Amino acid sequence: MAMVDVGGTLWPNSWPFRETDAVGRRQRIAAAMPALEPAAIQALADDLISSSRPGDEARSISTEMEIVVKAEVLIANSLARQGLPADPQTVTRLRRAMSIPISDRMRPLPGARELLAEMHALGMRTVIASNTYWRDADSYWDDFQLLGLAEHIDAIFTSVDAGHLKPHPAVFEMAMRWAGSPPDRCVVIGNKEENDILPALALGMRAILVHPDDPVPASSRANAVAPDLWACAAVLRNMLEAS
Ligand SMILES: [Mg+2]
Repeated sequence: MAMVDVGGTLWPNSWPFRETDAVGRRQRIAAAMPALEPAAIQALADDLISSSRPGDEARSISTEMEIVVKAEVLIANSLARQGLPADPQTVTRLRRAMSIPISDRMRPLPGARELLAEMHALGMRTVIASNTYWRDADSYWDDFQLLGLAEHIDAIFTSVDAGHLKPHPAVFEMAMRWAGSPPDRCVVIGNKEENDILPALALGMRAILVHPDDPVPASSRANAVAPDLWACAAVLRNMLEAS
């Protein structure tokens, strides 16, 4: 099984936050709260959008932002300020409403599709293992469908689904349970030594550090380092043939 990171690995580390992103959110928040009056919906949307601004701004700098308040907590606090009940179903609906679909101008990093296709050609299962703020697996499926990558992805596990951010092992452990694969049959591919490579090695997996959207790393404990996703596909093939 191959577990693949997303930001800085399959798509860019960052992209600009657009003012129009907030428009789509207001429409989705309204759809998520059908029983609310328009004024109450607007007050809730104002509160959610203004209180989540630091996270949105962080996204324009890096997808690996420091998360201070989890999305669920931020939403529950916002609902409480509006005097609305924060049951788990409502919180989940609002989290999905806040997840901005990827831009129609966004493109995967070069070689992303070919890398995922090569994994399938090698008989590997391909699993997305990603740190996210709003996105769960369902939101990501929509993104990958839009990018034309979904056909080469078998499963998706995010930190929202797992309840912990990488480098915590929860995302990788969820994927291993799903696949029924022991660690020595797993390889992690990612762009961050601390979040992708070190937890993989600690679990007894192999790891490939890629830097298609990052500076050349000074050093790495990964089994291999690849400058781009084409090179990563070649490394993966060699790795499998050698074992
Ligand atoms: Mg990354």
